[in-house]
Amino acid sequence: MIPRETIAERIRSHGVKPTTQRLEIAMLLLVAPRHMSAEQILADLRKANSRISKATVYNTLNLFTQHGLVREVSADSNRQFYDSTITPHHHFYNVDTGELTDIKQGDLIFSSLPELPAGTEAQDIEVIVRVRNAVEARNVA
Ligand SMILES: [Zn+2]
Repeated sequence: MIPRETIAERIRSHGVKPTTQRLEIAMLLLVAPRHMSAEQILADLRKANSRISKATVYNTLNLFTQHGLVREVSADSNRQFYDSTITPHHHFYNVDTGELTDIKQGDLIFSSLPELPAGTEAQDIEVIVRVRNAVEARNVA
């Protein structure tokens, strides 16, 4: 378990003041490589008897995103995840389970890219490979 003070320092180093509520949220999201939706974070906070409001959770996640503490990943139009791994990387998204997982670095290789529009350069490439449970697995569930 990463100590609270280490997490507080990480938040501070991104220019965000580590208030009690921000730390509570950060202790869920930033202690390990993790993908969580705002709803999951809220549910975990409620389980731990936290009284942080839904609005505060959303505001804090926006703040963390703006300051580069987490990355937003849109798995589909109504599934937004917050990723504690901030370097660009690719994902699998299971549409049956709603689970987002990282694709290992180097496991997805591009042999060619399209010519970029004139006057632009590539900033990063993020791929989401959408998967669903194979038929046998779906029948069991
Ligand atoms: Zn990720």
